[in-house]
Amino acid sequence: VAQSLRDRTGHEVPFSVEFNPPRDAAGEARLWRAVRQFERMHPAFVSMTYGAGGSTKDRTVRITGELATETTLLPVAHLTAVGHSIAELRSLVGSYADSGIRNLLVLRGDPPGDPLGEWHKHPSGVEYADELVRIVRDLGDFHVGVASFPQGHHRSPDLDHDTRHLAAKLRAGAEYSITQMFFDVEHYLRLRDRVVAMDPVEGAKPIIPELMPITSLRTVQRAEELCGRTLPPAVMARLQRAAGTAPEEDRAAVRAEGIQIATEMAQRLIDEGAPCLHFITLNFAKATSEVLTNLGYGAHTTATAVA
Ligand code: FAD
Repeated sequence: VAQSLRDRTGHEVPFSVEFNPPRDAAGEARLWRAVRQFERMHPAFVSMTYGAGGSTKDRTVRITGELATETTLLPVAHLTAVGHSIAELRSLVGSYADSGIRNLLVLRGDPPGDPLGEWHKHPSGVEYADELVRIVRDLGDFHVGVASFPQGHHRSPDLDHDTRHLAAKLRAGAEYSITQMFFDVEHYLRLRDRVVAMDPVEGAKPIIPELMPITSLRTVQRAEELCGRTLPPAVMARLQRAAGTAPEEDRAAVRAEGIQIATEMAQRLIDEGAPCLHFITLNFAKATSEVLTNLGYGAHTTATAVA
C-alpha cells in the first residue's frame, strides 16, 4: 500500500527530500534516523548535497552510495564544479557510477567560505554548470538535473540573463531543475512562465520547487544564508508575531507558524500543478512529515499489486 499526496483532481503529487553530508559519526547516525523515517514515506527521490569545494567528498560519496545499495530510496547526488579539475570531476562521476548512482544534480557551486565572494574557476575546471552537464552526459547514461532560481541567481544581472542560462543548461542535456528555496510562490510561478516564454521546449521540463519549513528564528537565518535572500516581510512578520515580544522567542509558536507557512505554500504549489515538492530537511524528518500530514499525506492510499 503506497501513501501519497493528491491534487484536487486526484492526481498523485510526489515529494522528495534533500539531505546534507554529515560532519561526524553523530551526524551520520542522525542522518540515518531521518533516512529510515523517510523510507517509510516513499519519497520520489532523495538528494544529497555536495560540500563546498568537496570538503566532505569521501563521506558524501560513501553515504550516497549506501543510500543506493542499503535502502529502497532513489538517491540523487549533487555534483559541484568548485575546486575541481575536469579530470577530478570525471573521476568523481565515475565513483558515483561505481556506487550505483545514475542521477546527478549538476551545479557550479559557490566559492568556499563566502558564497557571495569572488568566483574563480579551477585552472583546469569549468566556468559554468552547462559545461559540466555536457561532460556528465558524455560520460554515460546519467539522468541530470540543474539548479533554477525563482528570484534569479545572485550573479545574474537581470532575470532575462538568468532565464537564458537556465534554458542553456536544460538544452545541454538536463532533464529537470530544482529551484532554490523561496517563500513567495509567485516567484516560482513567474520563473515557470519566463522559461516557457523563452523556450517552450525546455520550458516543458519539470521545475521542482524547493521548500524549507522554518522551525525557529535561527532557521530563518540559515534559510537566508542558503538562498542569499531575505524572507518576504509578510512571512517574517508572521514569524515575529508568533515569536512574541518576550526576550525568549516562543519556540513552539514559531515552529507551528513555520510549519503552517510551508503547508500553505505547498498546497498552493500543488494547486498550481508543481510536478513534485522538494523539501530541505537539514537531516531531520519531523518538520517535513508534519507538513506532509497537513497536506493529507497518509489520508489517501493506493493499493498496489504485490507479486
Ligand atoms: P550556473 O548555472 O553556472 O550559473 C552561475 C551564474 O552564471 C548565474 O548567474 C548564471 O546566470 C550565469 N551563467 C551561466 N552560464 C553563463 C554563460 N555561459 N555566460 C554568462 N553567464 C552565465 N552548492 C553547493 O556547493 N553544493 C550543493 O550541493 C548545492 N546544491 C544546490 C541545490 C539547489 C537546488 C540549488 C538551487 C543550489 C545549490 N547549490 C549548491 C548552490 C549553487 O551551487 C550556487 O547557487 C551557484 O552559485 C550556482 O550554481 P549553478 O549551477 O546554478 O551555476
